[in-house]
Amino acid sequence: TPAPDFLPGLVGSFAKPASENPTVAIMEAAFKHHGMHYRYINCEVGPENLEAAVNGAKAMGWRGFNCSIPNKIKVIQYLDELGDSAKIIGAVNTVIIGKDKRTRGENTDGKGFVKAISEVTSIPGKKVVLFGAGGAARAISVEMALAGAASITILNVHDTGQELADLLNDKTPAKADFVLWNHSYQIPPDTDIVINATPVGLYPNVDQRLNMDSDTFQPHMVVADCIPNPAYTHFVKDAIARGCHHVLPGMNMLVNQAVIAVKYWTGVDVEAEVMRNELKKVLDL
Ligand code: NDP
Repeated sequence: TPAPDFLPGLVGSFAKPASENPTVAIMEAAFKHHGMHYRYINCEVGPENLEAAVNGAKAMGWRGFNCSIPNKIKVIQYLDELGDSAKIIGAVNTVIIGKDKRTRGENTDGKGFVKAISEVTSIPGKKVVLFGAGGAARAISVEMALAGAASITILNVHDTGQELADLLNDKTPAKADFVLWNHSYQIPPDTDIVINATPVGLYPNVDQRLNMDSDTFQPHMVVADCIPNPAYTHFVKDAIARGCHHVLPGMNMLVNQAVIAVKYWTGVDVEAEVMRNELKKVLDL
């Protein structure tokens, strides 16, 4: 028998607030399920302590860490390099620390979304409609564009959505356009994929609906939400009610971005289902 190993591989999270972030629970569930000798440490760290925390993680031999609000942009200045999409998105949610202590920033939000949607449809050549132009929309649209989406229509209540459309046109092969969203939106019938990347309907505002005509959902459209809680938003339920065959709740994106982070840190493909079940349990979904 091998000698006991009392030193786990360490990973974790730097965010503020940190106490309501369920990531630690799903990470530890996956480590346990797969018999991986790792621990995930959820830390409350804001921008004022971020540099010290990054240096601390390196000093303590951490394999990497997640960054969430409000650290996703600020962390970049403390890193050695960025992945291709993180460079375009301009935000990092996963940092990998190499054996040589070099740090690389990646953004797994959009990659998790692409992984979730790839389970039900192919992306190359598809026409996408995206509600929202904030951090999640940015990550999702850049990864969808790099995965081969032909066109992406960005809807936003403010004209900041034009900046995202410009970014996509400049830095990716996709064709993007911006629609100022000041009316009940009718989804064009030739749309393939419809995505909500706004917080409309997020707990506790579960009764909110997007400003759109849900009669324009059609069965062939793949519909995906970013909101992980509640599991089934009105957006998701309305798409199901209109007969859409493939409707993805936000939980899928959340779980898949965690799966991808673990892969970066450990090389192991953990089972998404284990994480999904734990998330449902801890959030009472
Ligand atoms: P941001 O605040 O960065 O962006 C929110 C976007 O939604 C902005 O474009 C904003 O417009 C728009 N918006 C806000 N309120 C409304 C409204 N009432 N009507 C229409 N548009 C609105 O947030 P994030 O992008 O970080 O997060 C968006 C959602 O995605 C959240 O629900 C979050 O929980 C979820 N998320 C899920 C992840 C997952 O893994 N499942 C990962 C990251 C986020 P404007 O700024 O112009 O006002």
